[in-house]
Amino acid sequence: MKDIFRIAIDGPSGAGKSTIAKAVAKALSIDYIDTGAMYRAIGYKMDRDGIPFEEDESGVLKQMLDSTDIDFSDGNIILDGEIVNDVIRTPEVSMLASKCSALPSVRAKLVEIQRGMGMRKSVIMDGRDIGTNVLKDAEFKIYLTASAEERANRRFKELQEKGETQTYEEVLEDIKQRDYNDMTRELNPLCKADDAIEVDTTGHGIDEVVDTVLDIIRGLE
Ligand code: C5P
Repeated sequence: MKDIFRIAIDGPSGAGKSTIAKAVAKALSIDYIDTGAMYRAIGYKMDRDGIPFEEDESGVLKQMLDSTDIDFSDGNIILDGEIVNDVIRTPEVSMLASKCSALPSVRAKLVEIQRGMGMRKSVIMDGRDIGTNVLKDAEFKIYLTASAEERANRRFKELQEKGETQTYEEVLEDIKQRDYNDMTRELNPLCKADDAIEVDTTGHGIDEVVDTVLDIIRGLE
């Protein structure tokens, strides 16, 4: 294996990308970059600061993006110096992330930061457009999927543990809506890169999927 290599993991919401990517990063002792968290942080900030979710002439969005700092440190996501791990994980912020991710200036800003993060060291980066756009020349590309029902079920259990009150039907509806938004947006929609290997996680446990991904990277599959 090369000294520096990049692993791109793409797929729809709730396919298990971040859980799998974190475990693979640990196994290979490389950095994990959660690009979804970056869109969440921007969606959260736009809503908090009352910035309209549209490209406008006034330049408010651009000004906000130019003065925003997003970074990762010790597994935390830092927005303008503040740890925002928890506030960005609500169902409301999931939708705000999906909405702001369709805006060209938001994508341009985040893709630039993401490319910078993937330049000088080995990383595993997960998202929707990593293999098709952000790290087009990544050494390894995985497309992680699962049925909408299984993804909704996993998300529903997670939310219940956190005391959120969404029903299973609402979670499924949100997942389908986000799939639709992510797959049909004009700019860098979610799709499998031609050279990505698809891994369907429906009915498979975390350890099993981590092993499959590690086997692909080590050239055993
Ligand atoms: O992965 P996660 O569910 O945290 O992502 C939140 C939202 O951010 C997604 O629904 C998607 O709209 C957007 N996103 C994106 N491109 C990425 C990562 C996330 O558009 N690379």
